[in-house]
Amino acid sequence: SIIVFGSINIDLVSKTPRLPLPGETLTGHSFVTAPGGKGANQAVAIAKLGVPSYMIGRVGGDNFGRELLASLQAAGVRTENVLVDESISSGVAAIAVDDNGENQIIITPGANGRVDETDVERLQSVLKILSRPPSQGEGTSSPPSQREGTNSPPSQGELEKSISPPSQGGLEGSILLLQLEIPLSAVIAAAQVAKAAGIQVILDPAPAQNLPDELYPLVDIITPNETEAGRLVGFTVDGRETATAAARALLQKGVGNAIVKLGARGVICATQAETFFTPAFSVTAVDTVAAGDAFNGGLAAALVEGLPLRQAVVWGAAAGALAATKPGAQSAMCDRPTLEALMAT
Ligand code: ADP
Repeated sequence: SIIVFGSINIDLVSKTPRLPLPGETLTGHSFVTAPGGKGANQAVAIAKLGVPSYMIGRVGGDNFGRELLASLQAAGVRTENVLVDESISSGVAAIAVDDNGENQIIITPGANGRVDETDVERLQSVLKILSRPPSQGEGTSSPPSQREGTNSPPSQGELEKSISPPSQGGLEGSILLLQLEIPLSAVIAAAQVAKAAGIQVILDPAPAQNLPDELYPLVDIITPNETEAGRLVGFTVDGRETATAAARALLQKGVGNAIVKLGARGVICATQAETFFTPAFSVTAVDTVAAGDAFNGGLAAALVEGLPLRQAVVWGAAAGALAATKPGAQSAMCDRPTLEALMAT
């Protein structure tokens, strides 16, 4: 199973002729709302590939929160551990995109900013339940939980009813996915819990920010893009050569493996044993929003299926490329046949 501990946002996107000046009111061309948030996007990418995907995070007690939960569930993501925090808004990204494709974005974390140690305790409960071998008669046919949308953390009993243990039992092969759109203290605590449980941690250090030294050794795979890598290592990362140096510098900081995403120029991956380059798939990109999230979803899905890292990077690259061919975030995530078809080319 893959557990995503992270952000859930609604994107409110206005198309405008140009970006507004301070104090100015502009008339837009069009408006759409779309479910997003790096955590939720990654959870959807995984579920769409047919891999069990559990989301842990928070939405607000508003209509957006209900829409966000519904979108996750429609994709097949398990949301029993998404808390509805009635006291605050859902996370919102208000986005203006002008005729030149330039954008202006205001992200208000809302409920995402409240993720704290109680959410980490829910993670701990999920890990505990997933680590048990399945008992007789229990299985994937158990009914979905009815408690989504309520306002208190689930009890242990409710959790046990709502989560079917994996068919083989045990946490072996489970993965925790993290990003940086929730408080860093919660990210660190979640990584510590995963480490203690012996499961792999993949950190997408996005949006770009500096990280404390203590986080790196808790991370099995870190997956920055060039901007994020540059922020972490303190020099400009642009292209293969500097990405290779950055990936090695990240290993020095204590991560197990470092993958630097170079968009249409491919991926650099540094492990303890080697550094290799994986080219991007050649596609016609229309909108690269959430390509990075698709990459992480594809990477994690391949790893839980037991594939080696080199092959998992190819899955990530294929999922990222396919996401770039479609508009939107969660709506751009591919299914398994589409992924396999691209990889077969
Ligand atoms: P982020 O969204 O985090 O900035 P990237 O833009 O690097 O990440 O995209 C993530 C991955 O998706 C890339 O490493 C690549 O594999 C794939 N990808 C993104 N854009 C394209 C593209 N235009 N063509 C092919 N693959 C792409």
